[in-house]
Amino acid sequence: MKEQWIERIIEQAKDKYARTGVRLTTKRKRILKILLVSDIPLSAYEIADSYNNAFGESIPEMTVYRILNFFEQEHLSHKLSSTNKYVPCSHHSNSCTCEAPQFLICGKCQTAEEISISKAVMGELEKVALKAGYSLDESQLELKGLCNKCIGSEE
Ligand SMILES: [Zn+2]
Ligand SMILES: [Zn+2]
Repeated sequence: MKEQWIERIIEQAKDKYARTGVRLTTKRKRILKILLVSDIPLSAYEIADSYNNAFGESIPEMTVYRILNFFEQEHLSHKLSSTNKYVPCSHHSNSCTCEAPQFLICGKCQTAEEISISKAVMGELEKVALKAGYSLDESQLELKGLCNKCIGSEE
């Protein structure tokens, strides 16, 4: 099930790039897959590690960073600045509009859920900031808490 879903996302990305002339190289495809398969956000180091394990080939961390930057530009993945880890964009579509993605991050199992906060709420935040003499240059939000699964497993 998940495998099919991953293949579909990769096919979509391939289609998109076929039109724009950008190549979804083997390395890019593999790293996208690693991000999609993982249940938790991964650091560049962890991605390089999984790459070695999964494909029996080593990949320099610099290359991983370059590819992650490309993904970021293309809205295929996001970087969580609070943890320096990467997650695939949950929109996976050609029409991703997540210029300012927001995340819920579980402090226990580390899963990150991409959510959409309404423009009105984001506008309100900006207004409050402006009033305080602050101009926001990045409105990615990372909210920490506990996910339902972890709340359930709490004694
Ligand atoms: Zn996104
Ligand atoms: Zn959790």
